[in-house]
Amino acid sequence: QRIHRRDPIGDVATIEYVLGDITEQEVDVIVNAANSSLLGGGGVDGAIHRKGGPDILADCRKLRAGHYGGGLKTGQAVATTAGRLRATWVVHTVGPVWSATEDRSELLADCHRNALRVAAELNAHTIAFPAISTGIYRWPPEDAARIAHAAIKDSPVPVIRFVLFDQRTYDAFARP
Ligand code: ADP
Repeated sequence: QRIHRRDPIGDVATIEYVLGDITEQEVDVIVNAANSSLLGGGGVDGAIHRKGGPDILADCRKLRAGHYGGGLKTGQAVATTAGRLRATWVVHTVGPVWSATEDRSELLADCHRNALRVAAELNAHTIAFPAISTGIYRWPPEDAARIAHAAIKDSPVPVIRFVLFDQRTYDAFARP
């Protein structure tokens, strides 16, 4: 898939923007905008499990049977294998639902920081993020983009690719 824009961030990291489908990306880590059950949902989550096949869900069930009996908390991140995807790992993170009355920005930043930390522990060089929380969880894309960019500033993973599914979200993230 064509990379539409590439910008340097800081000294060591590169940020790329792609208008497209995250399940098509050839990267070390694909980030899933999961829900706390880890057992599948709509949007990115549904696409990852459909395209990646049953192994990812089998890993998720093992997590639920072990350390994550209560599910994954908002802002946390955990890795599984990536099944048939062209990635080595899927890092699942749970974005916050948008709220007009409560500022949940720090939780959205946590998703990015924790996904990067887990990816770095796996020695990932490249990671693809969707626009976490901007779908079913209704976060305004411009605001989500601002939070995501601030959160990846000191990324331990050198290549970060944002994969945006529609033009509006792409424009929000890739705007110079
Ligand atoms: P959330 O529940 O965190 O809002 P969603 O999966 O509903 O997660 O949506 C997050 C973003 O991902 C939205 O901008 C949505 O349009 C986008 N999206 C949905 N499917 C895909 C896909 N296959 N690849 C990339 N982005 C996707």
